[in-house]
Amino acid sequence: MNSLKPNQVLVRTLYLSCDPYSRMRLSESQGGFVASFVPGEPIDSFGVGIVEASTSTKFSEGDLVTGGSFLWETRFILSENDITKVPSDTGISPANYLGVLGMPSFTAYVGFVSICHHKAGETILVSAASGAVGQMVVQLAKARGLRVIGAAGSDDKVEFVKGLGADDVFNYKTCGSLQETVKKAAPQGIDIYFDNVGGEFLDAALENMRMNGRIVACGKVSQYNATPETVYHTKNMDIVDINNITIYDFFILDHYSRPVYKAFIDEVSASFKKGDIQYKLDEIVGLENAPQALLDLFEGKNFGKRVVKVSDL
Ligand code: NDP
Repeated sequence: MNSLKPNQVLVRTLYLSCDPYSRMRLSESQGGFVASFVPGEPIDSFGVGIVEASTSTKFSEGDLVTGGSFLWETRFILSENDITKVPSDTGISPANYLGVLGMPSFTAYVGFVSICHHKAGETILVSAASGAVGQMVVQLAKARGLRVIGAAGSDDKVEFVKGLGADDVFNYKTCGSLQETVKKAAPQGIDIYFDNVGGEFLDAALENMRMNGRIVACGKVSQYNATPETVYHTKNMDIVDINNITIYDFFILDHYSRPVYKAFIDEVSASFKKGDIQYKLDEIVGLENAPQALLDLFEGKNFGKRVVKVSDL
């Protein structure tokens, strides 16, 4: 307590979130939207924890809190401005504040519900469909009357995405030609491609886009480990002009202060509590296992939203 400055809290970590954007922060000059990690300093991510001591009037000992600057440590000190309280009466587990109500799920909501101008009856293709973002896109799109095609990297994941209600799901690692597989799944073409992976998959989607189609450029996980020698250069960008495709890029942290955040929390927590939405967490136990838990994302070894359990509630 003595080491706390005014308006600070001491947090004990319960769960840490593993997210693909951390890979970009491991590069020295990723030049993007979040700062690179500093060698020798603990890395940070989204997390959930318990307040153990506080000099803030906003937080008391025992409060459950979440935020995007949790250090990968068992206990750490943060400013009161870096955390928000997790309501204790919702019936939603602490880990699910990184999951169904967490950043990737909000990313799915913003990317699909508020950005891509979907209409019932349209066809959407979702890559990395069993992942933290993808599983939510699939369910939101089904609930709004779209035909959903999902892609995932194992047969177990394919079955899971089918169970979420997707109309057609394929294993992109074993399907043969990606372009032909998408064409077979959507003979009339794709209206919306929710792109979580970039690379070759984006080219296959582009070849199957309908006139006036839309691409939600959510992320490029297939390229985060690429070197200048191995990076994939998209070949079909001329289709964007030919078919009048709109590409929507967005950064989720820009949306937390907007009305869409409340809409997300209200809709998704109600649907989750009613059982209309499911959400698969993939929990690894132990802070010592966190680095590997993060690296696993880039080999598809996670199945659902990967979190690391650091201590018990
Ligand atoms: P996931 O939980 O889906 O984990 C990553 C998944 O990507 C893996 O499980 C794997 O699934 C797939 N994958 C890994 N390597 C490759 C590869 N080489 N080719 C194709 N697929 C691969 O991650 P998230 O759902 O958290 O993130 C999905 C995307 O959304 C990422 O690109 C991320 O950067 C982006 N994102 C963007 C945000 C924004 O603000 N725009 C915010 C949050 C996320 P499989 O086994 O199916 O291959």
